[in-house]
Amino acid sequence: MPAPNNRFAFFNGAIVPIEQATVSVMTNALNYGTGCFEGIRGYWVPEEEQLLVFHLRAHMERLRRSCHILYMHLPYSVDELCAICIELLRREGFREDVYIRPLVYKSDPAIAVQMNGLTDAFTLFAVGFGQYLANPTVRACIASWRRIDDNMIPSRAKACGAYLNSALAKTEALLNGYDEAIVLGSDGQVSEASAANLFIVRGGALITPPLTSDVLEGITRQVVVQLARDELGLSVVERPIDRTELYVADEAFFCGTGVEIKPIVEIDRRAIGNGQVGPIGSALARRYAQVVRGQVPAYRPWCTPVYEK
Ligand code: PMP
Repeated sequence: MPAPNNRFAFFNGAIVPIEQATVSVMTNALNYGTGCFEGIRGYWVPEEEQLLVFHLRAHMERLRRSCHILYMHLPYSVDELCAICIELLRREGFREDVYIRPLVYKSDPAIAVQMNGLTDAFTLFAVGFGQYLANPTVRACIASWRRIDDNMIPSRAKACGAYLNSALAKTEALLNGYDEAIVLGSDGQVSEASAANLFIVRGGALITPPLTSDVLEGITRQVVVQLARDELGLSVVERPIDRTELYVADEAFFCGTGVEIKPIVEIDRRAIGNGQVGPIGSALARRYAQVVRGQVPAYRPWCTPVYEK
C-alpha cells in the first residue's frame, strides 16, 4: 500500500503538521472503537486546475447524524466542517485525487465503556488516493460473518467500532482469494459489502436492499438511484435481496465513495450474467465518473471547488 503523502491535519482546533496530530495509547476510542467518521473523495480536474470535493455537505451531514446516534458532541456546524475541509485541502495544495477523512472520537483517557460524560475530539486529514479496489472488475464471495444489526451497533452510523465487522468480512474474502465480501444481515438477506452498497440488475431494473437492511445510508447509493432514474430512465426498486438472487442477477455492482461504481463479475464462483461487465453497470460507472469530475452541468452543484480562481 502506498505511504500517505499528506503533510497536515486539522487537530485540536487548528491545522498542524501531521507529525503533531497524535493521540495517547489511553485514548478511549483506540481502546473501544468509540468514534465515527466519514470518507469523502476529491477529484483533481487538470483542465480546470481545480480539486472538486464530491458531496461534501452530504458527508458532513451524515457525520453529524452519526454523532447524534452515538451521543457524540461535534462543536462544528455542517458549514464549519465544510470550511475546515476546504482550508485543509488548500494548505495541502493537492493536485491529484484525494480521500478525506473527518473523524470524531472519544479522546478521553478514561477506562470507561460508555459514550456519555467523556471528552470528544475532532480531526480531519486527507491523502492522495487512487483506486480503492485494484482490479477493474470484482470477484466477490458471501462472508461467513453477518452484518452488524442496527440493534447491536447502529448500522446507519458510520461508527469506528463497526468496522471490525467489515474488516473481518474483507479479510476472509482476501484470504480466500476474492476481492471483496458481500455480507448478509442477521435475517440472512443481502445487506452490503464491507465498505460499499450493492445493486443488482434483473430484467432491466435496478434492485438494492432497503435502508432497513442494516446498510449504511450510502451517499453514492443515492447518487446511483438518481442517475439511474433521471439519466438512464431505469426503474429502481429497494427491496430485500436473497443470496441466491445474486447468483442469477443479470448484473451486479458495488457503489461507494471509495469503490466508486465497480462491476461484480463473479460471486461465490458463479459468473454474474455472462461474466463480463454489463451494459447498465458500465453506463452508470461512466456517468458517475463524469459527474464527480464536474463535467455534467446539472450535477455540478454536487462538486465543491477547493481552490479560489
Ligand atoms: N457501506 C459501508 C459499510 C461503507 O463503509 C461505505 C463507505 N462509506 C458505504 C456503504 C458507501 O457509502 P458512501 O457511498 O456514502 O461512501
